[in-house]
Amino acid sequence: MQQRNISFNNFEQCIKCTICTVYCPVVSVNPAFPGPKQAGPDGERLRLKNKFFFDENLKFCMNCKRCEVACPSGVKIADLIHSARRNYDKQFPELRDVVLANTDLMGKFARPVAPLVNSLISTKPAKVVMDVMLDIDRNRAFPKYQSRGFRGWFKKEARAAQDCYRNQLAYFHGCSTEYQHPEVGKAFVQVMNAVGWGVRLLKEKCCGVAMISNGLWSQVARNANHNIAEFRKAVSRGLPIVATASTCTLTMRDEYPHILGIDNADVRDHITLVEKFLFEKLDAGEIRLVFKNDYRARIVYHIPCHMEKLGWSIFTEELIRMIPGVSLTVLDSGCCGIAGTYGFKKENYASSQAIGKSVFDQINALSPDFVCCECETCKWQIEMSTAYKVFNPIVILAEALDLEATAAANQPR
Ligand code: SF4
Ligand code: SF4
Repeated sequence: MQQRNISFNNFEQCIKCTICTVYCPVVSVNPAFPGPKQAGPDGERLRLKNKFFFDENLKFCMNCKRCEVACPSGVKIADLIHSARRNYDKQFPELRDVVLANTDLMGKFARPVAPLVNSLISTKPAKVVMDVMLDIDRNRAFPKYQSRGFRGWFKKEARAAQDCYRNQLAYFHGCSTEYQHPEVGKAFVQVMNAVGWGVRLLKEKCCGVAMISNGLWSQVARNANHNIAEFRKAVSRGLPIVATASTCTLTMRDEYPHILGIDNADVRDHITLVEKFLFEKLDAGEIRLVFKNDYRARIVYHIPCHMEKLGWSIFTEELIRMIPGVSLTVLDSGCCGIAGTYGFKKENYASSQAIGKSVFDQINALSPDFVCCECETCKWQIEMSTAYKVFNPIVILAEALDLEATAAANQPR
C-alpha cells in the first residue's frame, strides 16, 4: 500500500501574499536561499508529493521566525522549513556543525583550561586553522569561557540562603550563563531574592536550539525530553520555570512541539522569561522595586528575533523605562545576523554581517552607553561588530536597583 504523506503544519492557510519574503533577512543577501514562501508552504506541497523536492538550500534559513511574525495568515513557515530538514535531509552533520551545536559539551571541556582556550581561539593562526579545517570563519570573534561557572557560584555562595524565601521558583539558566556569562545568573538570583523569591536550579540540559539548527535530531530530542521531565517535577511542586535567555525560552515552549513533535502542553505555559515574570508581579502589586537615585544610562534596546516571536519585548521595555535616570531608545526591528551558530560558519559569515549592518549602523549612530538585549548570541554579534557592550536586562536591573531597599520593601507585612 502506498504510504500517504501528511503535513502536521498549517501550510494550506497561505494566501500567497509574499509578505514573508519581504521580511526574510536572508533573501536579500543570499540568492541560493529559496525564501520563506517557496521553502515553506509552496515547498511543503511539493515535498508531500515526493521527497525528491526537498531542497538542501533550506539550510540557509536562520530560523529567526521573522517570516512567521509577518505572516497575516499565521503560517508556521520556519517550523515547516525545519520540520522538512528533520524529515528529509539525509546529509549527516559535519564535524564543524557537531562542535558548534554542542555548547554544553564544549563548555565542559573548555572550563578547566579557560584562560588557555580563550587565548588560543583569539590568535590568528588558530583562527586560520579553524577556517581551513572546520569552515568556521576566521573573522569571527569567540565569546570568552569563564573558569568558574554559574552553578559552582550558586552552590557555594547562594544556595544555602534560598530556603528563607517565602516564594520559590525554578531557574533555567542556559549554557551561556553557565560557561560564558555567569553574571547573568548572579544578577537573576540577586534580583529575585530582593523581591522575595528563592531560586532553585533545575537539572537542566542545553535547550538544544543549536542542535536543531545543525540537524542533531536524536540528540536534541533527548535533551528536550530530559528538560520536559525536569519541568514536570518543578510544576508538580508548584514552581514557575523562569529563564533569562529569550531563545532558550522560545525553543522550550514552541520548538519542542512544533519541530520535534514532543508534547509539552502540560508545562509550556509554566515556562516564562524573567522580564515577563517581574512585570506581571509588579502589575499585580505583589512585588516592589526600589531604584538607586544616582543611576544614569543612555541605553538602546535591540529586540532579538526570538523575542519578537514571543511578543514579550514590551515587558523588558517597560521595566527598563521604570529606572529613573535612564533614557531608552528601542532600535528599529531588525536581525543582527548571527542566529546562534549560523554566523560562525564560513559560508554564512558575509550574509550574517550584511544582515546585521542596519542594526550596527543604528547603534553606532545613537552612541549609547550600552545596549540591552536578552539574547547572548546577539550580544556576541553586536559586541564584535560595534564598539558597544551589550547587557542582559536582568544585569541592568540588578545594577540599577537598590537591592537592600528593594528587599526591605518586599518584606512580608
Ligand atoms: S506571509 Fe504567510 S500567507 Fe503570505 S505568502 Fe508568506 S506564508 Fe503565505
Ligand atoms: S525563519 Fe528567518 S531566515 Fe528562515 S525563512 Fe523565515 S525569515 Fe527567512
